[in-house]
Amino acid sequence: MVIGVLKEQAPETRVSLVPEVVAALVKMNVTVWVESGAGESAFFGNDAYTAAGAAIKSAADINAQADMVLTIQPGNAGHARPGAVLMGVYQPLFNHRQMQQWADKGYTVFSLDTIPRITRAQSMDVLSSQANIAGYKAVLLAAYSYSRYFPMFMTAAGSIPPAKVLILGAGVAGLQAIATARRLGAVVEVFDTRPAVKEEVMSLGAKFVEVEGAADASKAGGYAVEQTEDFQRRQREKIHEHARKSDIIITTAQIPGRKAPILITRAMIEDMRAGSVIIDLASVTGGNTDLSEDNKTVMHNGVAIVGNSALPATTPSDASKLYAKNVLNFAKLIIDKDGGLNLNWEDDIVKGTAITHGGNIVNERVAALGG
Ligand code: NAD
Repeated sequence: MVIGVLKEQAPETRVSLVPEVVAALVKMNVTVWVESGAGESAFFGNDAYTAAGAAIKSAADINAQADMVLTIQPGNAGHARPGAVLMGVYQPLFNHRQMQQWADKGYTVFSLDTIPRITRAQSMDVLSSQANIAGYKAVLLAAYSYSRYFPMFMTAAGSIPPAKVLILGAGVAGLQAIATARRLGAVVEVFDTRPAVKEEVMSLGAKFVEVEGAADASKAGGYAVEQTEDFQRRQREKIHEHARKSDIIITTAQIPGRKAPILITRAMIEDMRAGSVIIDLASVTGGNTDLSEDNKTVMHNGVAIVGNSALPATTPSDASKLYAKNVLNFAKLIIDKDGGLNLNWEDDIVKGTAITHGGNIVNERVAALGG
């Protein structure tokens, strides 16, 4: 079969396959076509793709003839020939109308952001590979925007205390943010509704802020669940106490398919000292603060609230490399030894990642939204 890689639309800088992964697919008897310039903004040139065994084609050729079309964002997907396979990160719970249109075109759509969070799927988990980068970059962005130092300094000209960083949500992004902030010498406090992460947080040298009585998320397949009103009130009080003493807050709390929970209110921001910085990684789903705006920096009383959901795209080479590796590992599940498509609907990962097939929405949560 032919797998086609389309160039993403700006501001996206990543590309869904890198030359190293093209070579692996070619070995699996797959023909790979790459749109000219697709890897340019991630620093992979056309030559590197052809050396790896791909052919450089136009988007029109790829859309007209490829059996599987890869993009990361949904924006330029959906022009493939009827019946093709589309694979990318499509946020189907938010873009459910588009999913219905794609079902109507007979596409088989795999959205890698819905992959089940089971051990076997870890090597295919794009949310994890990209969140790791986002957590790292969030701290660097905070350090860059912050009006003071991160590490403690004792110099002849006087002493500087270490920055106090509060991280809300200790998932993949949050844990990487803890490690990065600690490496820069900050004092780090962390809050998460899942008490299970306390040990991991402490092993990274951070302090865990506890609020009793969180809703049990252990049956949500590795994803967070919504909390009760009473828990949220107590959580807000506790976070307020810690936020007012923090110089940097990094928020990462997301609930799949729902608006992100508000963890930092306007009043808390007004209690922070001027020159402090909040980085909100949940801004794409509404944000974790009252004042966040996606891909904007809002200044309020001298506090910068940076909504940034596109941090992986600021590290395009490594982000693409890891993303492409995730794609390859998933592709191995659906490609047979002759390089043909072979969909095993008994496989939980294949089933869990499929959104549309045979003219229908096959993902129950997306179908429940009614197309
Ligand atoms: P995420 O991006 O959905 O959420 C980030 C964090 O925010 C989570 O830890 C969540 O508990 C937390 N959160 C949600 N609501 C909150 C609230 N109101 N207040 C504070 N925190 C809140 O999650 P993620 O980082 O993608 O993954 C979470 C966890 O899932 C990981 O730490 C890992 O243990 C597990 N996981 C497993 C696999 C796998 O087995 N394949 C893959 C990825 C993640």
